[in-house]
Amino acid sequence: MHNPNIGIPVRAPALTGLDDTILPFEVGTLDLRGRIVRLGPAIDAILGGHDYPLPVAKLLGEAIVLTVMLGSALKFEGRFILQTQSDGPVSMLVVDFTSPGKVRACARFDAARIAAAISADEARPGQLLGHGHLAMTIDQGPDMSRYQGLVPLEGNDLEHAAHEYFLRSEQIPTRIRLAVAEEFRGGENGGRRHWRAGGILLQFLPKSADRARQADLDPGDAPPGTEPHLLPEDDAWIEGRSLVATVDDIELIDPALSSERLAYRLFHERGVRVFRSAAVQAQCSCSRQSVETMLQSFPPQDRDDMVEDGKITVTCEFCSSTYVFDPAEIAMRDSALPRA
Ligand SMILES: [Zn+2]
Repeated sequence: MHNPNIGIPVRAPALTGLDDTILPFEVGTLDLRGRIVRLGPAIDAILGGHDYPLPVAKLLGEAIVLTVMLGSALKFEGRFILQTQSDGPVSMLVVDFTSPGKVRACARFDAARIAAAISADEARPGQLLGHGHLAMTIDQGPDMSRYQGLVPLEGNDLEHAAHEYFLRSEQIPTRIRLAVAEEFRGGENGGRRHWRAGGILLQFLPKSADRARQADLDPGDAPPGTEPHLLPEDDAWIEGRSLVATVDDIELIDPALSSERLAYRLFHERGVRVFRSAAVQAQCSCSRQSVETMLQSFPPQDRDDMVEDGKITVTCEFCSSTYVFDPAEIAMRDSALPRA
């Protein structure tokens, strides 16, 4: 990334925040690395395009920030897919990140259960998800094996699930904060609401193996009085995670506070270095051709069942694009395909 023989310029943090960016940073003196994600138009395009109930949109927004933070860390071309499957009112979330910075997302939920959860004041993220699992899949293309990590969802939110994943699977001490909110902007026609989101990820990645081992495990939720049999946490990590715990939601979404200012605010006493930020955009990968290919892969009977008013209509669950086909056209192309 950088040549140690070249002097690294020291400058003041940028005052202007850039939306739809991922800012990697490093606090060398504490062996900490992290990323700050800031989403404006990209998250507004995705959540605004779906018209989900408010708590569902917020929950999906958190999943999008988490996916962008984790997916942007991939060192190769490919896709990172985060998917939940659980028994709560939100039965599924899917967020699909394609390197270097395209993201799309959708949710499946039970509208009646969501309405009941809202009126009972039981619509916190962990309550909406319920019990099930969170899967994270890395897909490097058809010729490469897929990697999948699984973490149980047990009525907790996505931050908690991500901490569990890094603790158990990767054994990297990790803290994540996610925030999503609607901002009201006036204008013609009374103005409208715009979604904003942000997040910070911090990891303890010590260079010495000794230090890494010490930092592996956290006593977690052990009840008070439990005999501590684990090695103590490293002081550098305690300092890092304590600083991240002070981050307010507003600091993650405030357009007036740049990601660089936030990094500086948190870590200036230790010295923080930022790297080049990367851009994120909301973009779906569906196309008329890909939908047609999918329809051709269905048995003719299944396609017949899809015909309504003489047409087959397919709506993309991610971006709500609608594709209309003439069934005869699909059948004709189908019969023209070579048979095995
Ligand atoms: Zn689409």
